[in-house]
Amino acid sequence: MDRKIRVLIAKPGLDGHDRGALVIAQALRDHGMEVIYTGLRQSPGQIAQAAIQEDVDVIGLSSLSGAHRTLFPKVISALKEQNAEDIPVIGGGVIPYEDIPYLEEQGIQKVFTPGTPTEVIAQYIKQLVDPSASDVTEPPEKIAHIGIAVKNIDDVMSFYHDLLGLKLKGFEEVPSEGVKVAFFEIGETSIELLEPLNEESPIHKYIEKRGEGIHHIALEVKDIEDRLKHYKDQDVPLIHETPKDGAHNSKIAFLHPKAANGVLYELCEHKEE
Ligand code: ZN
Repeated sequence: MDRKIRVLIAKPGLDGHDRGALVIAQALRDHGMEVIYTGLRQSPGQIAQAAIQEDVDVIGLSSLSGAHRTLFPKVISALKEQNAEDIPVIGGGVIPYEDIPYLEEQGIQKVFTPGTPTEVIAQYIKQLVDPSASDVTEPPEKIAHIGIAVKNIDDVMSFYHDLLGLKLKGFEEVPSEGVKVAFFEIGETSIELLEPLNEESPIHKYIEKRGEGIHHIALEVKDIEDRLKHYKDQDVPLIHETPKDGAHNSKIAFLHPKAANGVLYELCEHKEE
């Protein structure tokens, strides 16, 4: 899009602090957006009015007072009353995670918490305004598979195949990871048994250190390269900064377990099912 993205930053309600809102406003300006700030203590009606007059693409609401559960939905209602419900509204501030599903049900597109990097908010807004832009802020689509480290696949086949009765989709050797993999279909995801092919295999080292068991969770994503770059920009620790070849004609990359408090996540993009 040629026109700059226009954002209205508004603070409904009575709280008197706007440091956070000003930080966001500046961060969005740094991303090339035009930001209009309404100032403190605006009523939902005033906010809707300002959004229409300023012809903004998105409204960002900030609340620190704890009144977000009533005030944010009132802004949505005010927009509806003025036939402007097509302007998307996002929210942030001091908002407990427990309140997020309620606010999203009430029509807030997305709620950000104080820990959200401004980079993520800017990317989200770009995506919201222009869905053809890279969609790296979209959540992963599903759990692609759960990887389980075993010393020997044959030794555990009877549990997965005979006892659970899971459908065996096949075997594959992945030389880049030094593993032999058995795939079992379960719903829309799968369980992958990983057996080390040699002592250099990360799976061999994992079993030596921690024993057999759950090794990683793989998340199905689109645009794996853009996503890795996006995560890297946010200082997410990565094992692979660029994707490599995985099983089933996929591109894969691992995040460092430090990124998720000790859980190893793999990103996985399948070119074809
Ligand atoms: Zn995997």
